[in-house]
Amino acid sequence: AAKAAGKNRFLRFHPDMMTALVRRTDLEAGLQVSVARSEISVEFQPIVSPRMGQVVTFEALARWDRGDQRVPPGLFIPLAERSGLINEIGAEVMGQSLKHLATWLGADLSRSLSINVSGVQLQEPDFAEQVLQLAEKYGVGPYQLVLEVTESVFFDADCNVIKQLSQLRAAGARVALDDFGTGYSSLGRLQELPVDILKIDRTFVSMVHTGNERLPILSSMINMAHSLGLTVTAEGIETEEQANYLIALECDSLQGYLFSHPEPAGRFEQALKTSGQALDALSSRAG
Ligand code: C2E
Ligand code: MG
Ligand code: MG
Ligand code: MG
Repeated sequence: AAKAAGKNRFLRFHPDMMTALVRRTDLEAGLQVSVARSEISVEFQPIVSPRMGQVVTFEALARWDRGDQRVPPGLFIPLAERSGLINEIGAEVMGQSLKHLATWLGADLSRSLSINVSGVQLQEPDFAEQVLQLAEKYGVGPYQLVLEVTESVFFDADCNVIKQLSQLRAAGARVALDDFGTGYSSLGRLQELPVDILKIDRTFVSMVHTGNERLPILSSMINMAHSLGLTVTAEGIETEEQANYLIALECDSLQGYLFSHPEPAGRFEQALKTSGQALDALSSRAG
């Protein structure tokens, strides 16, 4: 029976799976080379506050250009998590982002940097220490940092994860719960998590369109988050209708292609030098 099962398993290994495996191995080897050559770069996407009329945060997003082909992070980040390369990529993204933030922002405390952090990085016992040291090296205050994590980092209830995030929060950094609503945790569980900001996933935002005027789930999320003392950001705002809808629900900040696509640092540097007015005009698109 074992033999039959074994044979069966072999037969089930379809040629397509082989192709996928080869492709994955190939991508993984390529990623390793690119990381070693420091070919991972970062783009930034502004997050605007309609109430303050300005860009309040820049989210750093990792980019991998493989020759003239850009591999999406949705593909290479999970790969890097499996191989452990995510620790190096994370450090690279953090270093590049802080360097930019320090040169752009100087002492402008009204703006912050938001960085995506993988659960794998949070397994490191000195993760928080490394982040705080890097911030200090570039003269950036911890309160100018936001660490974005997804609900999944809390699944295995690893106490190191909580410890690292708590240490960062104690130093003044904030933690954002990314892609909220796509995972399994309930609104009720929010109360227990060490987070300051709720980022509503864009699947909910994309439900806002003409003919779909009532979305109780969005108002519930925002009201619940506010009653817990959290700040709310809506991701994936593509239309003015969506922006206005979320502003009416008192969502604190908005992010999406309507305001700006993610862009290389250079695109924002000039705007920030001229007192940020060109950037702040982005938030006038809302309303
Ligand atoms: P995320 O953190 O939720 O980032 C937002 C994603 O939505 C980005 O995709 C961004 O380009 C995209 N986006 C922004 N506005 C809009 C919009 O209006 N419409 C649509 N359709 N999309 C929008 P991107 O850059 O492809 O990144 C995908 C995911 O990869 C990120 O999702 C994040 O989970 C992960 N990621 C990216 N960089 C890093 C990193 O440095 N470290 C880690 N651990 N993960 C990263
Ligand atoms: Mg994010
Ligand atoms: Mg997100
Ligand atoms: Mg996402």
